[in-house]
Amino acid sequence: MPAATRKTPAPAPLPDPVETDDANVDERVYAAVSKALLSGKLRPGTPLRERALAEALGCTRGAVRKVLARLGSEKRLVLEHNRGAFVPNPSIEDMRGIYRARRIVEAGLVTTLFGALARDQVAALRKHVQAEQKAFKEGRREDAIRLAGDFHLLLAQMAGSDELLSYIRRLIANTELYKALYDSAEAASCAPREHEQIIEALMGDSLDAALAVALEHLDELEQRVIAGAAAEQEVDLAALLNGGGAKPHAHTHTHDH
Ligand SMILES: [Zn+2]
Repeated sequence: MPAATRKTPAPAPLPDPVETDDANVDERVYAAVSKALLSGKLRPGTPLRERALAEALGCTRGAVRKVLARLGSEKRLVLEHNRGAFVPNPSIEDMRGIYRARRIVEAGLVTTLFGALARDQVAALRKHVQAEQKAFKEGRREDAIRLAGDFHLLLAQMAGSDELLSYIRRLIANTELYKALYDSAEAASCAPREHEQIIEALMGDSLDAALAVALEHLDELEQRVIAGAAAEQEVDLAALLNGGGAKPHAHTHTHDH
């Protein structure tokens, strides 16, 4: 071997796949798993295995375990003792109960905020809706769903109660997932326009009209999600009765771009 080759400095060692900054790893793993959940591609009941996730994400199983526990406490995943973490598989009744809770809580929110928004709050809400529109136009479905949920969290924040905010956060974590699992990508485009209407109605002159706009928005979301879930369950039942497991789900994401 020529001497010159030996003289070249040793290449820098490859970066350690395990980052030293725990908080960074946690956030990265949390973001990746959350995004996968909001993609809707992980179907209800899918197990999330620590080992496979750690390998896919280049982190330790400990980091994965921590993130799964966090997602479980946020109700984004179901944790079963000794069995692990699963994508939630809510019944239609479960879902209806969550939307009912959202309607009750958000009616109170609209009543509180009606005619009471400061100019900078209105500006913040409008700016948020622009970000939603952008995410939708660019086909970033997971971001569009997350930002749509965040719009409601922003309203809750403006009501000035941390207790309320944490409760709404949990409800929205549930409904974001329902939307990811059962709502079609096209329908998700309604959100930014409807959110604009809610902002206008909160600054309008009729509380009844504002309540109607906000509640209709939740009703429509619920109806689309329930229809999607019912169609999927029907196909599952048909597949079961026909003795085949190979039939595809009704919701095959052919609408996704
Ligand atoms: Zn909304």
